[in-house]
Amino acid sequence: DAKERGRNGFRFYTQDLNSRTFRHFRLETDLGGAIEDDQLRLHYQPKIELATGRVVGAEALIRWDHPRLGMLPPGQFMEIAEDMTLIEQIGEWVLQQACRDLASLPGTAQALPHIAINVSARQLRQPNLAEEFFAITEEHGIPADRIELELTESVIMDDADTAARVFQRLREVGMSLAVDDFGTGHASLTQLKQLPADTLKIDRSFVMDLEKSHEDAKIVRAIVVMARSLDMQLVAEGVETDAQIHLLREFGCDYAQGFRYSRPVAFDELREMIVNDVRMLPESE
Ligand code: C2E
Ligand code: MG
Ligand code: MG
Ligand code: MG
Repeated sequence: DAKERGRNGFRFYTQDLNSRTFRHFRLETDLGGAIEDDQLRLHYQPKIELATGRVVGAEALIRWDHPRLGMLPPGQFMEIAEDMTLIEQIGEWVLQQACRDLASLPGTAQALPHIAINVSARQLRQPNLAEEFFAITEEHGIPADRIELELTESVIMDDADTAARVFQRLREVGMSLAVDDFGTGHASLTQLKQLPADTLKIDRSFVMDLEKSHEDAKIVRAIVVMARSLDMQLVAEGVETDAQIHLLREFGCDYAQGFRYSRPVAFDELREMIVNDVRMLPESE
């Protein structure tokens, strides 16, 4: 993009870089106080059972309600958090908040929906992650199996031994595990088989062009077969059209998330959907 700006490109480029560095620096300074000042928020994207349209759970996605910059998506600050080791504190806040929200739902603990939480590379290397996470669920009276932890396939593959070890311990304390952004990280079948994960989430990039791309359709079909033979649940990410929903159902995919169903919403909105037992079916049904 710097190139497209013609002769003065270089100057603009350095200006961009400076303002980007400045913004980064400012965010880094502010992020330290974000938890204390109650500026972090969790939004929830419903997870839908494709066959029935029921909301069976949700994925918690962090936002930072910055006093001057407004609501920031994780792409704008989680890397900074990861560099600063603040990620451990933020990760605990995310689980705390998700448990508080879950505990506020009516009904018995066993009837609670599943909430998925994203875990980063640095958290994976956090000593006693499983014990600390388990303690948080207990503190809130949430059965550990209501919480599903998502790790991206590439983070898992970057340190497959650590991932396998941590997955094992999380499994022992009763938590569920998911491989996020599946298809982008080159895990082998053997590695997948050895990983005690319950769920595979097909990366959005394979779902995006499902109607148009025979290649993508073939890949998704193959992933469905593979997940079934590994006894894993399958979630398609980033579903935006009815045509994608119809194809995913035809292929035998179990669950889906995406803007066609719902954007990530505040917990109150998720609660409404769950309490009213809404069904989200594509048009013509
Ligand atoms: P992810 O876990 O793969 O989450 C899915 C992302 O895709 C979310 O972006 C979601 O808003 C977006 N998305 C969902 N459906 C659609 C769709 O139909 N179309 C399109 N175009 N996008 C869709 P978001 O919230 O900006 O999160 C981005 C990434 O940040 C997440 O990717 C996850 O890796 C990370 N993240 C989010 N919350 C947390 C957190 O609490 N902790 C950690 N460590 N990482 C987080
Ligand atoms: Mg995720
Ligand atoms: Mg994902
Ligand atoms: Mg993703």
